[in-house]
Amino acid sequence: MKLKFVIASGNKHKIEEIKAILQSELDCEISVISMKEAGFTEDIEENGTTFFDNAYIKANALKNESWFSIADDSGLSVDCLDGAPGVYSARFAGEPCNDKNNNNKLLSLMENVPAEKRTAHFDSVIVCITPDGDCISAMGRCPGTILTAPRGTGGFGYDPLFYYESLNKTFAELTAEEKNSISHRAKSMHAFAGELKKYLKNFANLLKKHLEEHTDVNK
Ligand code: IMP
Repeated sequence: MKLKFVIASGNKHKIEEIKAILQSELDCEISVISMKEAGFTEDIEENGTTFFDNAYIKANALKNESWFSIADDSGLSVDCLDGAPGVYSARFAGEPCNDKNNNNKLLSLMENVPAEKRTAHFDSVIVCITPDGDCISAMGRCPGTILTAPRGTGGFGYDPLFYYESLNKTFAELTAEEKNSISHRAKSMHAFAGELKKYLKNFANLLKKHLEEHTDVNK
């Protein structure tokens, strides 16, 4: 059996990351393609107010009887800013939308905040719509603190300001392997793979039962 997955993203890095995790968790053949490769070229408007809403909107827009559609939504929530930028993480500083402006806005809003009140976390929510129209979801969270100046050159988004205490590094100072072992997205993807395995096992059991009930052994 070969399972087909369509990912609601054009980000090659994200698609590769999702593919690697699914491949390592599922013991069957899989194919993983982007929404563009599946024929979806229009932008999907993310107008939800939670990470789940936005991930659901994207996964639902791609649903199809022939594949599992998968979407993720993620962002940074800062405690002293009442959870901002949250779902607005990508467009926090408005137009032009870019990481540098977002990081500068965050630093200026937190100018007078003392070290012990600079706590934050990244969240990632995965939503999958199965070929039958069922919804499977999972989330992952990674805690950290916001520094007063950027550190490191790797990663993207708020990585240079996000300090991860256990490794004594910002996310922008982590190797890809380090980030993929502790990040919010790694955690949500592993939790999702676990939920998907349960779903597939249940589906296989139902199919087996159906075949047993409808197969006449005397024929
Ligand atoms: P999306 O879920 O890929 O749309 O990401 C939303 C936004 O959240 C990004 O544009 C980043 O600003 C921020 N973000 C999400 N994940 C990360 C991360 O791992 N590091 C840094 N910023 C992130």
